[in-house]
Amino acid sequence: MLKNKKRADYNRAEGKEKSCDFLVFLCTLLDGLIFLSVVDSFGFALLTSFSEGDMLDNIRIVLVGTTHSGNIGSAARAMKVMGLKQMTLVAPACKVDGQAIALAAGASDIANNARIVETLEEAVADCGLVIGSSARNRSLEWPMLDSRQCGVKAITEAQEYPVALVFGRERTGLTNEELHRCHFHVAIPANPEYSSLNLAMAVQTLCYDVRMAWLDGAQTRPKSEDNEHENTASEGVTYPLSQDLERFYVHLEEILNKTDFINKAHPGMVMAKLRRLFNRARPEAQELNILRGVLTSVEKNLK
Ligand code: SAH
Repeated sequence: MLKNKKRADYNRAEGKEKSCDFLVFLCTLLDGLIFLSVVDSFGFALLTSFSEGDMLDNIRIVLVGTTHSGNIGSAARAMKVMGLKQMTLVAPACKVDGQAIALAAGASDIANNARIVETLEEAVADCGLVIGSSARNRSLEWPMLDSRQCGVKAITEAQEYPVALVFGRERTGLTNEELHRCHFHVAIPANPEYSSLNLAMAVQTLCYDVRMAWLDGAQTRPKSEDNEHENTASEGVTYPLSQDLERFYVHLEEILNKTDFINKAHPGMVMAKLRRLFNRARPEAQELNILRGVLTSVEKNLK
């Protein structure tokens, strides 16, 4: 009897303990959920601000050989209103002077902090995607984007590495050689009878499309969805940086000179066409390593 009472007490106590355990469990769960939602919203806030900074900061506006300082200022303003701030000037033919600062208005920080380099190669060395802008069709056709596609592509790939949008000189634009250093060309589909925008306005148009793509959430979609172009990054693909591709082209040219495939006196368009071929194929980092290996093996057998 006593035993039974003890057991009953024990069972009751155990029951209480169990319901107590359950309450504790419930509270912990609720606490956890509240904690998680706080962390989540904090994390999300961090993520969104991090994403904006990260994504748009990874997109660089490169102005080549600019002659009018006012255009540098106006381009800086065009960038800042769209949330971009990385400006690189390649061999500018003018200074960031009072005129530039006046036209930059509230974006003088961008003009003043612009990185100045001597060559386009230097400006884009660490970029995984380089897009050159041109109003004109060039003799050697290159993979083309319109400004919207350019915005989406820039935002999508800026998740992985720096992306450069390159703009040419006011009078003559980009040289063919400079354009051949780009993965894609972009043309703003302007009036075919008069398609040449003022430099800063071209910067404004492309930066606007970058922002639209960003606002549209291009950065949150899997890269495989961006399938408008064959050369699109797919999940898990790492593309080489511009400097690695350039090393490959130098190596390739060296070998083709050694084998006499290229006639040094009359090199013609071979290298430009090979660049276009590799650009179209857009080799991944690993594939580029294989190609470098192939060149090295040819080189060894030449000696
Ligand atoms: N007269 C030059 C155009 C220079 S305009 C030419 O014929 O090439 C300065 C720069 O603005 C160009 O080099 C290009 O980078 C950009 N730009 C102007 N209009 C453009 C357009 N319709 N599409 C893409 N880029 C353009």
